[in-house]
Amino acid sequence: MELGKMFVGGAWVDPAGEDSVEVINAATEQSLGRVVRCEEGDVDRAVAAANAAFDSWSASEPEERARVLRALADGLEARGQEIAEMITDEVGTPIRIAQRIQAALPLTVLRSYADLVEAGRPQERIGNTIVRREPVGVVAAIAPWNYPLHQVVAKVAPAIAAGCPIVLKPSEMAPRSAFVLAEVVEAAEVPAGVFNLVPGRGSVVGEALARHDGVAAVSFTGSVEAGAKVAALAAPAIKRLTLELGGKSANVVLDDADLATAVKVGVANCFLNGGQTCTAWTRLVVPRESHDEACELARGFAEAHAPGDPRDPGTRLGPMVGESQRQSVRDLIETGIAEGADLITGGAGAPEGMETGYFVRPTVFGAVERSATIAQEEIFGPVLSIIAHDGDDDAVAIANDSKYGLHGSVWSGDEKRALAVAARMRTGTVDVNGGAYNPLAPFGGYKKSGVGREMGPYGLEDYLELKAVQV
Ligand code: NAD
Repeated sequence: MELGKMFVGGAWVDPAGEDSVEVINAATEQSLGRVVRCEEGDVDRAVAAANAAFDSWSASEPEERARVLRALADGLEARGQEIAEMITDEVGTPIRIAQRIQAALPLTVLRSYADLVEAGRPQERIGNTIVRREPVGVVAAIAPWNYPLHQVVAKVAPAIAAGCPIVLKPSEMAPRSAFVLAEVVEAAEVPAGVFNLVPGRGSVVGEALARHDGVAAVSFTGSVEAGAKVAALAAPAIKRLTLELGGKSANVVLDDADLATAVKVGVANCFLNGGQTCTAWTRLVVPRESHDEACELARGFAEAHAPGDPRDPGTRLGPMVGESQRQSVRDLIETGIAEGADLITGGAGAPEGMETGYFVRPTVFGAVERSATIAQEEIFGPVLSIIAHDGDDDAVAIANDSKYGLHGSVWSGDEKRALAVAARMRTGTVDVNGGAYNPLAPFGGYKKSGVGREMGPYGLEDYLELKAVQV
């Protein structure tokens, strides 16, 4: 794979400079190779190539867009195991989860957009007005490292479906699957300039894209801090903006729920991908009378997530993505202890015998105050905070006591009661009694969790302008 070039205008080309960054294996701390770092002038080239492709791609037939989307899915599927292993090494995702989510979910998303394009959409009329939906223009996509290919495809697929050329900046921590995607784009004979890859620093390439006059829409996934910066840079040009940011999701258990199931599913959800998941249910909100039992159950389920080699198919908990992420998780565990929560299992020290690799211990806190740092801040590690509630109203108040509003969950023996609680939660998605993830459902957040929605038909809207034509 050519990690020293960028993919612009349908070809692998040399960037202006010679800077590069080392990608590190999260489990072994060994180098996985060096990836190019582009500069502002490289962004100009990529944006120009995307704009040159706009007229023809925005006018392309639905059959051609669907062909491209299916070809990308087929091309990625053929390299599925390679992609899974690549992301396991970069991010620390246990290999079986990497196969199921990191490698396979993007195929579902690409094919769902091919289906949507093929199905078309009846022309809408309001009185004497024909409502047209037209591609917004060139899209800049800025992606994080935790689900690196999924988050890229969640932007690339709807942009292509909508008729928008795209310029992608992947994360520097996990960039290699974006290079695989570019190779697949090349092999699929996607028209030149429709997909462009410009790797590099957020502060250089990301910021240049966010403020570039040739970019009509910016789709960003990452932290609140970087998202706010991107929004500010995009504002003067009045760009379309999609922001998918952090979360501190509440898993609310009502007093008539099956506690053991709720805690078991909740711990697995919280620890998914080492807890490096924006939707993780990191707050377990249980009836006060069940608090101690919930802590005991959580201890058992957490301890079953022993940290291990993420390439081993038996491993359920891999390392953190890197040194600074591990340190940040350990610091927050220390803060939890210092603020007086009960440490039920885990702790800030390295797991025994695992000095190499960015491992942390699966950690559960009980008797957590709703205002505590570990109940408010996104930890992005395998750390669960258990909070006691005094009835449904109190549970809703605790769930909503957050600057975030990305995801959540409710468990009850009475679905109506659970749905009533779900309706009161200020969050973009909620699962009732373990309802399954739906890749066609709108995905996004309230409050500081973001702006706009990705996935399925609603995910197309951010890439389309509405035009009212009166007849
Ligand atoms: P990050 O904000 O550090 O980086 C995300 C991307 O933005 C990277 O490509 C980075 O290079 C770039 N970037 C950084 N600073 C920038 C700047 N000033 N201008 C432009 N681009 C910039 O986030 P991360 O550490 O890669 O990812 C973790 C965060 O992402 C967590 O907060 C997590 O909750 C969030 N996240 C959200 C979702 C979601 O869909 N809501 C999904 C995954 C991750």
